[in-house]
Amino acid sequence: MKLFRTYSLSSYMISTIVFVHALLAPILFSVILNVYSHSSSELFITHANNIAGILADDLSNKHYSRQRDTLLNILDSAVLSGNIVFIDIQDELQHSLKPSDQLAISSRYFIEDYAIGQNDDAIYFLSVPVSFSGAAGKNFKLRIGFDEAPLNEQITSIKERMIIIILIYIFSMISFFTLITHYIHKPLKLLRQKSNTIAQGDFDSALKVASSISDIKYLSQDLEKMRITLIQMASNMQVQATHDELTGLPNRYLYTDRMHQAVSLSQRTNQSFALLLLDLDRFKEINDTLGHGLGDKVLQVLAKRMHESMRESDTIARIGGDEFSVILINVDQATASAIAKKMIRLIEPIIDVDGHTLNATASIGIAIYPEHGLTPELLLQHADIAMYNAKNNNLSTSIYHADMDSDNYEKLILVNDFKNSIDQNHFKSLFQPKLNLQTGEVCGCELLLRWNHPTLGLICPDRFIPLAEQENLIADLTCWATHQSLRLLRDIVLMIPDFNLSINVSPINLLDSTLLSSLLDIISGCDFPIQNLTIEITENVIMKNPVRSAEILNKFSESGIKISIDDFGTGYSSLAYLQKFPISELKIDKTFITDLTVESANYPIVKASITMAHDLGISVVAEGIETIDVHHLLKELKCDKVQGFFYGLPMSFNELQNWLEEHAEINQLID
Ligand code: C2E
Ligand code: CA
Ligand code: CA
Repeated sequence: MKLFRTYSLSSYMISTIVFVHALLAPILFSVILNVYSHSSSELFITHANNIAGILADDLSNKHYSRQRDTLLNILDSAVLSGNIVFIDIQDELQHSLKPSDQLAISSRYFIEDYAIGQNDDAIYFLSVPVSFSGAAGKNFKLRIGFDEAPLNEQITSIKERMIIIILIYIFSMISFFTLITHYIHKPLKLLRQKSNTIAQGDFDSALKVASSISDIKYLSQDLEKMRITLIQMASNMQVQATHDELTGLPNRYLYTDRMHQAVSLSQRTNQSFALLLLDLDRFKEINDTLGHGLGDKVLQVLAKRMHESMRESDTIARIGGDEFSVILINVDQATASAIAKKMIRLIEPIIDVDGHTLNATASIGIAIYPEHGLTPELLLQHADIAMYNAKNNNLSTSIYHADMDSDNYEKLILVNDFKNSIDQNHFKSLFQPKLNLQTGEVCGCELLLRWNHPTLGLICPDRFIPLAEQENLIADLTCWATHQSLRLLRDIVLMIPDFNLSINVSPINLLDSTLLSSLLDIISGCDFPIQNLTIEITENVIMKNPVRSAEILNKFSESGIKISIDDFGTGYSSLAYLQKFPISELKIDKTFITDLTVESANYPIVKASITMAHDLGISVVAEGIETIDVHHLLKELKCDKVQGFFYGLPMSFNELQNWLEEHAEINQLID
């Protein structure tokens, strides 16, 4: 809701003028009129008194009884000469000597006035004493009535003229200010229009507006400065949005745009163009061993070398961490291949950065439009296949061919994408609850990872764990997931003291001598009680490498971390053998559990495993429980803990929190 309405400058000005004048004009009007009518009345009265005095003088040297006609003549001529509407001479006996009957006003109306407008008779009556010869000692009065009408008419006409003058004045003020505001308003309106064009994204027209009003002039100059700054900022932003900050080369966004341009140009001109995809070999090693700062410098040097060798019409872009791509307009396969080889040669010379001398090598995949694809996406995909083909076969360059193994392609994409996925938060930690079967209480959860791939969707650990091992990234992944989970679960552990988090540790993971110290750092960093962490390892690891495993597992156990044997039953190891290791938990594999009945072949195995484990002081977890029957059966067999879809699927942390709240009720349903 708007609190205040806005009005234009001219409406403000005009309403102010009207308001001020509406207040002032009546005051001014009445003051002037008052002064005027007062002074006119004074003048009128003085004038009347003067006439009366002159007449009295004139009469006084006449003989009252003998010169009556002369007296009447004087009175008559007085009437004729001025605006006298009444005149007589009154003696002591109140007899009056009047001129002819022309004057309609009778003597009984006479009431002497001291000011104009008195007694409502529109006549100013006055009397002056007069003496005559031959009538000494007698008192006579000359009484005169002056018509007030001419004076009133004069005042009314002045009043009318003043109203007209005031109206003309107000009108001219309004016109004048309308003109002035128009004069101010016009450049302001122009400024507004121009800034609106800028607001719509058109920065081209200058914001300068001519005005002799300094404020407007300066405002326009300031706005113009702002426009120029905006242009610079917009162009900087465009460069930032379309170029890679590190190397200054076009980024993936601009590159995709150029690819589309190349396709439409080649369609129009019937030319071909080539797409080169270059990936540095073992660049991760440089980053990992010498640090990202140095890795960045290497990328800058190589980008510069490649960029300088390109034609104007070609585009070289950085489209990933250590991935570059080149669009070569109007070239055939042979030329593209020659240019690719030249690029490899440009990369190979020694790089000197920060006192390190390094050697870089790269692999380039080539795809040609239109032979290898009609769309940018397909061309890129094929250049990618060719690039992996080059890498896998130790070739520096390779041109795409339909025979190249595309089944392998997805795996290659995954390998490639895996590197950045941890940083980009594409992995998701899920938690599957574990229950104490005898009490029904929740006693922990298992951390299970998912990879949320941007194009291939959700990928299960069975597919990406081997990749992580192959790419030597499994330790990073385990540590990242553990760190995240410990932080999330810490509060739950504080509320449920025997709540245990189990993490899966793959064979390569376990044999990595730095894993334990990394985990200990994470545990202390998260302030997580160490005895609440369990690592799950498959029995196969132990069986393959018993001496080394024992050494490592002892260290884990000494640190306080618990050890659980995962997928028990699939590796044909005997419990008696496993007893040598510091194991606290046995997880019977789901293949034995899911379809378990008293009649099934697995039943005696499960039963014996539970009994034997208990004899050795090891607790037993059954995983893969999907039905209530299996739940009851395992309870009869005195299995300690259970985990399975029947209780809860692997779930996000938020879902786990809700699940824990609802768990008490679920528990009642089961029992
Ligand atoms: P696992 O350690 O045997 O984990 C249990 C697997 O069984 C999980 O599959 C889980 O979703 C599934 N499962 C749980 N309850 C049931 C059930 O009632 N019925 C059935 N049919 N399946 C059930 P998931 O999540 O696909 O994990 C597969 C394997 O990937 C895991 O087997 C584990 O070895 C590995 N893995 C998962 N996360 C990680 C990780 O962070 N690091 C490592 N190294 N391996 C992991
Ligand atoms: Ca497991
Ligand atoms: Ca398992």
